[in-house]
Amino acid sequence: MNENLKQVKKFNSIKKSCFQRLVSLGFDENKLESHYLNSAIVESEEGKLRDFIWSKYHELLHENAQDLQKQSQIHWSMAVFSYDYENGKNTLQQKDLSHKARLLNYEILSLQQNSLNYRIVIIPGKCSICQSEKDKNYTIEEMRSNPVIPHKNCDCSGFGCICMYGLTTLRDENGDLIWNEDSFDYTNKSRKIKTNDKLAREGAGAIISFLNLFKKKR
Ligand SMILES: [Zn+2]
Ligand SMILES: [Zn+2]
Repeated sequence: MNENLKQVKKFNSIKKSCFQRLVSLGFDENKLESHYLNSAIVESEEGKLRDFIWSKYHELLHENAQDLQKQSQIHWSMAVFSYDYENGKNTLQQKDLSHKARLLNYEILSLQQNSLNYRIVIIPGKCSICQSEKDKNYTIEEMRSNPVIPHKNCDCSGFGCICMYGLTTLRDENGDLIWNEDSFDYTNKSRKIKTNDKLAREGAGAIISFLNLFKKKR
């Protein structure tokens, strides 16, 4: 196969695969095609195609500024894109952003139901370093200030650490949910206004106004 033909084939394979990823994350297919046509990129310009795809990922992030779970998925897909087509130059950073969005999502959830004892677990990757997270659990605050993943020097080949945060609730030996006793005063059955509670509400307020900032910008 001559060089030109090889180049065109590679260009089209990147375009096909990445456009599929963008559409599966919610990018409107017609809009994507029309943006691509307007860009006037030709098949010899692989670098421009990659930049175009990267900018569409950023558009998706803006469109989904209110949806942290989606933000986490988009950043993960960006990590994979960077690994597949750009020698992984942004992979670690994008994994990190993906995990952060997920943790923030969990934090909001836990603030909405702050009497439940939420804990973070790690769904581990394959190597022994990743597997060492099995059966451990952490508080959300611990992971927000000292995240354990992505493991930077683990032995998972290629893309590296694929560990993922998960959310669980603490249960006692009978399988009953353990409630956060801080939030309740069992002696007189009335709800105490606790500092933790108050801080949690303020925290939620701060996060919501942070998200509204994105909304207004658009
Ligand atoms: Zn890992
Ligand atoms: Zn690993």
